Amino acid sequence: MWFDDFANWFRLDMGIDLGTCNTLVCVRGVGIVLNEPSVVAVRKGTNEVLQNGNAVGIVAKEMLGKTPGSITAIRPMKDGVIADFEITEAMLGYFIRKAKATHGSSFIRPRVVISVPSGITAVEKRAVYNSAERAGARRVYLLEEPKAAALGAGLPVGEPSASMIVDIGGGTTEIAILSLGDIAVCESLRVAGDDMDEAVVSHMRRTYNLMIGPQTAERIKIDIGSAASTGDEKTMEVRGRDMISGLPRKTVITSEEIRESLKEPIGSIIEAVLRVLEHAEPELSADLVDNGIHLAGGTSLLRGMDKVMSQATGLECRVVDDPLTCVARGTAMFLEHLSEWKETLESDADAK
Ligand code: ADP
Ligand code: MG
Repeated sequence: MWFDDFANWFRLDMGIDLGTCNTLVCVRGVGIVLNEPSVVAVRKGTNEVLQNGNAVGIVAKEMLGKTPGSITAIRPMKDGVIADFEITEAMLGYFIRKAKATHGSSFIRPRVVISVPSGITAVEKRAVYNSAERAGARRVYLLEEPKAAALGAGLPVGEPSASMIVDIGGGTTEIAILSLGDIAVCESLRVAGDDMDEAVVSHMRRTYNLMIGPQTAERIKIDIGSAASTGDEKTMEVRGRDMISGLPRKTVITSEEIRESLKEPIGSIIEAVLRVLEHAEPELSADLVDNGIHLAGGTSLLRGMDKVMSQATGLECRVVDDPLTCVARGTAMFLEHLSEWKETLESDADAK
């Protein structure tokens, strides 16, 4: 109807995956419009965001590690908790404004669905609502990340059959079994990709007396890292600072030693998956024998991750299509059905 078309013109619905490493924004009817690192550059010792509040995302990440002493780059969601409210607010505000400016108009007040880790506290939820409202949102709904991931992966979440999703991101791993549109069992673990980077840093320090930065560690993990032997063993030349002489130095490392160093964080993730499986009702467990486990999040791309998970659980484990955008696409699907489904969500109206 012309009236609906007309009204839609002034309506803007936005879905946001507020991740510990990356934030993605999608706009209803358009798709993903923004995909940037969850990083903010501030003046050291203050919460003052540089460049009039615009040193966020890609701009801030470029400053990481290369900033002069007076500037630091912060990941406010680093451990899946909101470590710094003011900086999170500045970041969320920047992303909402940017998406509004390119896909809508700056005076439209959007409805926003934000996917948050399932383990966040009431205080943290409040902070997310407030940030989004201050950034100009008309209504704010929070969607638990495992639900968004399952929707984005195209799992039959509404059906009376269990689906299991393991979303391994940077700061957190979200593990959940869903049935009838809701979460039956879940665990939010603060071990994920960042811990693997740290494991690589400490391996280099212990074995080679070589200090490397977090970005180098992440590159090593992605280029030659693995959870299980995949038959394509590689080597890599790594540069850093010698801890004894203090001088720049390089060395060659193998995928085998990196796999060994990643064992501990991977072990913690697998233990948590087993715990969630143990807590499932027998009927749900029975469904999982056929349905298997779906892996999402950037860290599910680590070579052999699906293989070790299958070995440990005896279930079929599959990485979903495009695991880095899965949660954002899930929020977009939620927006399509916002009018029917919004009753099932926590919204700012409940929090007041
Ligand atoms: P979050 O939802 O917490 O923001 P993401 O799902 O965006 O996290 O995933 C980011 C994590 O995925 C980072 O730790 C990154 O190093 C890791 N990652 C991305 N690509 C790969 C890859 N090909 N292999 C291993 N890890 C990867
Ligand atoms: Mg995520």
